[in-house]
Amino acid sequence: MKIEELNKQEELLIENNKHGKHGEVKSTTQIPLVTFYETVSLRIKTELMTIRECERLRRITERDTRIIRDYLRIIYHNEEKILRKNGKVSASLLDKLTLTTSKKTNHKLRTSVPHDLKKRYPRCSFDELQECRDKAIWTYESWKTQQNVSKNELSRPSFKKKTPRPLFKGTQGRGTFQVHHEPVNTDAKLWLELRDSLDTKRSSNRTHNRLWLPLAYSPYHEKRLKLENIKMMELVHKSKEQQWWAHFTLQYSIPQYQSILPPAVLGVDLGIKKTAVAVLLNPTGRVIMDEIRFIVDKERQSKIWQISRQIKETQRKLNKSLNNGQHTEQLNATLFSLRRRRRSVTEQELGYAVNQLVDFILQLKKRYNLFVSVGYPKNIRKRHRRGSGNKSLRKKVHKWCFRYFITRLQYQLTKYGFEPHRVVAVNESWTSKRCSRCNSLNTTRTGQGQFNCHQCNYELDADLNGAKNIGKRLIRYALKPKFSGIRDTLTEDYHPLRHYNCFQPLGQWLK
Ligand SMILES: [Zn+2]
Repeated sequence: MKIEELNKQEELLIENNKHGKHGEVKSTTQIPLVTFYETVSLRIKTELMTIRECERLRRITERDTRIIRDYLRIIYHNEEKILRKNGKVSASLLDKLTLTTSKKTNHKLRTSVPHDLKKRYPRCSFDELQECRDKAIWTYESWKTQQNVSKNELSRPSFKKKTPRPLFKGTQGRGTFQVHHEPVNTDAKLWLELRDSLDTKRSSNRTHNRLWLPLAYSPYHEKRLKLENIKMMELVHKSKEQQWWAHFTLQYSIPQYQSILPPAVLGVDLGIKKTAVAVLLNPTGRVIMDEIRFIVDKERQSKIWQISRQIKETQRKLNKSLNNGQHTEQLNATLFSLRRRRRSVTEQELGYAVNQLVDFILQLKKRYNLFVSVGYPKNIRKRHRRGSGNKSLRKKVHKWCFRYFITRLQYQLTKYGFEPHRVVAVNESWTSKRCSRCNSLNTTRTGQGQFNCHQCNYELDADLNGAKNIGKRLIRYALKPKFSGIRDTLTEDYHPLRHYNCFQPLGQWLK
């Protein structure tokens, strides 16, 4: 009943939002947006390029490196002239030293400057020079801030390596690069089109050819690289491997989450074949609610075991007849149908467990600013149990169970208005071995599922210990300053830390 009521509320909310979008009913509160950046790197398939194209790529980067070096030299020599009070370089003052103006703007016309870069690089356009200028300024400023922090004298950045300028993507055909997706192309599905003022001489005519670079584009990149969010691109040469890479910077905007409820993390340890155990923690790692179990349906459970036994038997017969050189079509068909049946029964079973968990989470959501951390086995080896045919198959079935459970949970919860970043699959390796109180690995697990720590003499249920660790893992990721966000182990989705900022003042227990 309660879920139905909640459903209606959600529907109403969605309805309201729809109206808000069309401007009929204006929403009174506007959620502020947060922007964050992510980098995705793709290798350039130089093996598909002609020698001429490779040569051009090299020339572009070498020219850029020279210009950036020049800019840096000018900055070093004129520090007192161009530095602002806050220690930042003023780009406009730098321009006054390096670039002449052809048009009269609000300032006077500049016909001569001390370091005329346009004269030195006549083919280079103003935009390109300014992109190089920005790169030089960034480099200088980051060197300066590091120098202020460090005790030792740091050497100045010298740009011995090839360093092309960063390129920005303009809107609708403008800008210096474009990314083209060609799903039918067999050579490369993604192409990078570079526009550059470098000349290509054909007979006496001068033309500006565009450089097309094929990119190594895998399904992994397809998931992560949202083409419409690309803001910036940098070409990087890795001299060791003799390879070129394109680093894309993506920009995302997401609504900032605000809540007055106390934050809490629900750690869920999935024991697919018996029970799922959950535990509710506050951001300091203390337990708010202990041992929440989701007992699976016994009848269906025994059915799964029965089918698994049948599968095992059929497989043994199959191996036997294969060794004797007999026909195996009949047995293969039986095996296939048995596996399919097991899959459908397991699916029902897991769906039942997910529904219980979803009910429970929706109850908690009313009282807490809730995040859910679910353990997902990246390394399935230790987890498999006997009784379902050969080893690799057992692993597969098991992994599939976990995936099914978590994706279903994420899907159901987002349907009920839970933001997607609130359900994260974290890597569950070592969570069953580690002590949830003192982090020691000097532990044993007895036959009855009891967990003993020899370091601090802590005793508790083994699954509960795992659930605690899984909950803590999410908090730990969210508190570690070296991460800028949490990546979901299953979906590869990226959730920036700003979603979890309620944890940040509470990090003491991590030491
Ligand atoms: Zn311990």
